[in-house]
Amino acid sequence: MEEHKISELIPYLKERGLRITPQRLLILNTIISLKGHPTAEDIHQKLPFISMATIYNNLKLFVELKIVNELPYGNGLSMYEMHTSDHYHIICQSCGKMVDFHYPNLKEVEHAASALTKYKIHTHRMEIYGVCDTCKNKNQR
Ligand SMILES: [Zn+2]
Ligand SMILES: [Zn+2]
Repeated sequence: MEEHKISELIPYLKERGLRITPQRLLILNTIISLKGHPTAEDIHQKLPFISMATIYNNLKLFVELKIVNELPYGNGLSMYEMHTSDHYHIICQSCGKMVDFHYPNLKEVEHAASALTKYKIHTHRMEIYGVCDTCKNKNQR
């Protein structure tokens, strides 16, 4: 299943200028299979035979080529995800858990910004901070 996904990715990776190596495919495959937002450490745990330095170097390259998004929020460790559809992140300030949510209506803010400033808008980012359900219930006890 994962292999299928990664083979679909290859033309996209080439288009972005990535020189494809088995090691890079493994790292990308791991990001996909871990779902959510793994840290470099999470990736390293799945691929202990690839050094942390190599994982970091490749992640940096993937981010530069816009194949992977770096999410420098939460508890100090960057998390990573494939550069997919636009979505927002909500981050638990207690445990650092990050969850995706979609809210396409916010595209409006780009029209508003463009109208108010005459800028040509490319994108926008937003993070929401709060306390997740698990942490909320823990604190109530
Ligand atoms: Zn939490
Ligand atoms: Zn996400």
